Amino acid sequence: MSIFTPKLGIDLGTANTLVFVPGKGVVLNEPSVVAVSEQDNKILAVGNAAKDMVGRTPESIIAYRPMRDGVIADYRVTEAMLRYFFNQALGKFNIFKPEVMVSVPAGVTSTERRAVIEAAIKAGAKSAYVVKEPILAAIGAGIPIHEAKGHMIVDIGGGTTDVAVISLGGIVASISVKVAGNKLDQSIIDYVKKTFNLAIGDKTAEQIKINVGSAVFLEDELEMTIKGRDYLSGLPRSTTIKTNEIVKAMSKSLRDMIKAIKDVLQDTPPELSSDIIDNGIIMTGGSSQLRNLTELVYRRTGVKAKLAKDALYCVAKGTGIALNHLETYKKSIIAKR
Ligand code: ADP
Ligand code: MG
Repeated sequence: MSIFTPKLGIDLGTANTLVFVPGKGVVLNEPSVVAVSEQDNKILAVGNAAKDMVGRTPESIIAYRPMRDGVIADYRVTEAMLRYFFNQALGKFNIFKPEVMVSVPAGVTSTERRAVIEAAIKAGAKSAYVVKEPILAAIGAGIPIHEAKGHMIVDIGGGTTDVAVISLGGIVASISVKVAGNKLDQSIIDYVKKTFNLAIGDKTAEQIKINVGSAVFLEDELEMTIKGRDYLSGLPRSTTIKTNEIVKAMSKSLRDMIKAIKDVLQDTPPELSSDIIDNGIIMTGGSSQLRNLTELVYRRTGVKAKLAKDALYCVAKGTGIALNHLETYKKSIIAKR
């Protein structure tokens, strides 16, 4: 392998794609969106530009979220997305083909993982490796995954909550549910509509969640003024919203996340369960940062939960570490070329 071979770790998330360069860190973080024109099926834009386009242009544009919509097997869209991220990360004057490590959801089929490898090679990679996301999240969170000890990792992103128990470098039990940050945002939108007759957008809902939201009720509530459009008059209006209303609004989705964790715990062999009690549940992904979510997990499961350092970057960091130590992590690589 030439010393000029650049290395790129790619966290293909449901919401965002991150590119990690060993020695540099996260160099890119853009929405996992590909905009395709409905008429001639042409790929118009990727990443930030694609997200900005949606809903703002006259012609009909379809926004694919390759990871969320499960069209990861859509060769063309995945390839376009990877090509864009390679070019952005390497710069246009680069002439060396990169060696890449791509994360995929734990539940991918063998067809899908092959599609990712093919797409990466077609998009310009010299060689490509695929590792399951929970393993990479664990590596990025600093968990010694090769130990004969059980570790539980809960990654809550935009589209999915992924719960996995890892031991000896492999996944022993896992579940993925389509309830995560986006569903929390939607439940806030629904609540504000029902309670205040006010229409708010995704961005506002996300801000409410992050600024004043919480997973458990608070005695000292936070509050925030929000602006939206009145459903009856059609005119702009503002109102105030408080933490405990948000807790209530999000409770159904939070319950679904907790259920996924409990289901995996109940599916875990007893020896590993005792390790998990000792080690605690490690939480990664953007939505794990929701105020007091680790506390809710502890209250509902009886197992201590802790937020990993740099929770948003664990998977990306994991791709970089695995790329730099291919031999160490070779058992976790599920596809390569
Ligand atoms: P994915 O891996 O699915 O692309 P990420 O791990 O990037 O997702 O997480 C994105 C989600 O994290 C979004 O739904 C976003 O609203 C949420 N998020 C980011 N920061 C916070 C925070 N401080 N509190 C709650 N949710 C957050
Ligand atoms: Mg993720």
